[in-house]
Amino acid sequence: MNYSYTQIAQYLRCPRSYRHRYLDGWREKETRAAMLFGRCFEKALESYFCGEDCAATLHREWGAFRDDPFEYKKGETWDRVVHQGVHLLERFAQDNRIRIPQPQQNLQIKMVRDLPNANRFVAYVDAIGELDGTRCLMDWKTTTSRYPEEPAGLLTLDQQLICYSWITGISDVALVVFVRKHHPEIQYLKTSISEEQRLEFDRLVATTIGQIEAAQFPAHSGIRFPQNGCVSCVHLGLCLNDQTLIESSLTLTPGASNLAWLDELMD
Ligand code: SF4
Repeated sequence: MNYSYTQIAQYLRCPRSYRHRYLDGWREKETRAAMLFGRCFEKALESYFCGEDCAATLHREWGAFRDDPFEYKKGETWDRVVHQGVHLLERFAQDNRIRIPQPQQNLQIKMVRDLPNANRFVAYVDAIGELDGTRCLMDWKTTTSRYPEEPAGLLTLDQQLICYSWITGISDVALVVFVRKHHPEIQYLKTSISEEQRLEFDRLVATTIGQIEAAQFPAHSGIRFPQNGCVSCVHLGLCLNDQTLIESSLTLTPGASNLAWLDELMD
């Protein structure tokens, strides 16, 4: 069985949701423009580091979805989103803070770690290169609101960065956040992950996989602030047995567990 960060995170959020997604095969319909735009933007970044015309790549990739009936946030349109993306790419080039040597090898790097019982952990690290002259691994995010930076040290608690540090053994990590807003902004957030955090994550992976293999899938339900995960959960229709909700937001994918590691590419 291949495990990924997305799977572990989903199990920790709600084991019942994990069962719906990875055992039964219920996955979200791809109707959110923001998520698909994030993937197109990553392709544009890739072409930037390869010395190609990244704005043209963005137009081409995002252009494939021009006529799709996506759910846009209020005030957003296909044109507005691509305009923000191009603005961010220009800002990124002006900042010129990141170097990726040999981009073909150092972008979207597949990392595999063998686990007990013939299991494997698979991760795709967005980039390994230099930020302001320091070698580190990097994760790109596109979002419409800034990531919090206070209190100091907050980024050391980012579990996805801890996971990537665990699988690569690289302590210096960075989150590069492309904020799509009226005046686009890029946050370059750096931190260092300790050996103790990597060991703790190692134990967390082992414990979580142990619970999955023991078929422990209790519902971690909650509708009251702040544990109101059910309200935004894609599997809400299944837990409420609401057929209309199921049909509007979910699609059934047979053999989902075999392809589960692909989620990692989309995250
Ligand atoms: S709706 Fe709530 S209980 Fe059901 S899978 Fe989602 S988070 Fe878990």
